[in-house]
Amino acid sequence: MVPYVDLKTQYQNIKSEIDEAVLNVLASTRYILGPEVMAFEEEFAAYSNTEYAIAVNSGTSALHLSLLALGIGAGDEVITVPFTFVATVAAIRYTGAKPVFVDIDPQRYTMNPDQVEQAITDKTKAIMPVHLYGQPADMNPILEIAKKHNLPVIEDAAQAHGAEYKGRRAGSMAEIAGFSFYPGKNLGAYGEGGLVTTNDPNYAQKIRLMRDWGQEQKGHHNIIGFNYRMDGIQGAILRVKLRHLEEWTEARRQHALYYKELLQDIKDVTIPYAADDVRHVYHVYALQVPNRDRLQQAFKDNDVQFGVHYPIPVHLQKFYADLGHKAGDFPVSEQVANRVISLPMFPEMTRDQQEQVAKVISDTFQ
Ligand SMILES: *Cc1c(COP(=O)(O)O)cnc(C)c1O
Repeated sequence: MVPYVDLKTQYQNIKSEIDEAVLNVLASTRYILGPEVMAFEEEFAAYSNTEYAIAVNSGTSALHLSLLALGIGAGDEVITVPFTFVATVAAIRYTGAKPVFVDIDPQRYTMNPDQVEQAITDKTKAIMPVHLYGQPADMNPILEIAKKHNLPVIEDAAQAHGAEYKGRRAGSMAEIAGFSFYPGKNLGAYGEGGLVTTNDPNYAQKIRLMRDWGQEQKGHHNIIGFNYRMDGIQGAILRVKLRHLEEWTEARRQHALYYKELLQDIKDVTIPYAADDVRHVYHVYALQVPNRDRLQQAFKDNDVQFGVHYPIPVHLQKFYADLGHKAGDFPVSEQVANRVISLPMFPEMTRDQQEQVAKVISDTFQ
């Protein structure tokens, strides 16, 4: 069997460090926020090359608070993409604002900068590109349009820890960014977790307040608050795992190179595109294939786990029907959603496992 991710092997490899870190938190009784979370914030800010990092209880909360810190609410519009995990769009909805979609670039699968300007109205309050699969969106043209229209940009960096665009780290390129530490993400907690990065002290301060009931002083609630705090245990685990992240990321990048070697000549199979000036961190290694149903069946028959990220773009999801979209509105997103399949990808993967995966694909399509 080839698993999609192998968190068990990863835990076994770092068990002594993790167990010690967790036991220390248990003994300290600092179960919520506390010194481990604070230290993790500093270390992750340094890793992402930003001034501030504020840890929260999920990536969704990180995006929600980022939007609120920018003052976004009912009556506002936020431009984003329909080809993403639903949380990107849900976070916009939570504020009362309206998500406005633009299609993705057919190679990168991230926001197509050429479509952004025509989506801007006098209600637009922010632009929210997604660094999908671990590849940064094409940020320079997006930031240029944002600047011209005096709009802030929020990076959805939930899949892009350590990714780079022209030498700049994900999370450091715009006004504010949200990360996720869902267990399967490149940096994953042993439970839920998320974090906001920013270089703006006012946004950072506001988010620190909002994640903990808006209390500047205990018992004084001056702004809207939430219970969005990170657990001490997750902070301690993430500190341990952050020390290994570069090594794990390089392993993913090596696996991507080997997949390329194994798969690039298979007819009608499209391997991931990675721009030259980008450090793709391969959270997801997705192929476009001519017949996904056939490959899914072949993977099942051969005990290879896989994923589909994401089979239905958000504009065609039932809950978002009130936005008034129909099939055909975002043709690139729709075509890619119909054709992608995510291969097993994790740092601990062996060449033998990759060869098993590749053999199923070549047997299916050759
Ligand atoms: C995982 C993810 C989120 C949400 O993060 P959670 O920690 O699961 O709340 C948001 N956006 C994208 C693109 C994601 O992949």
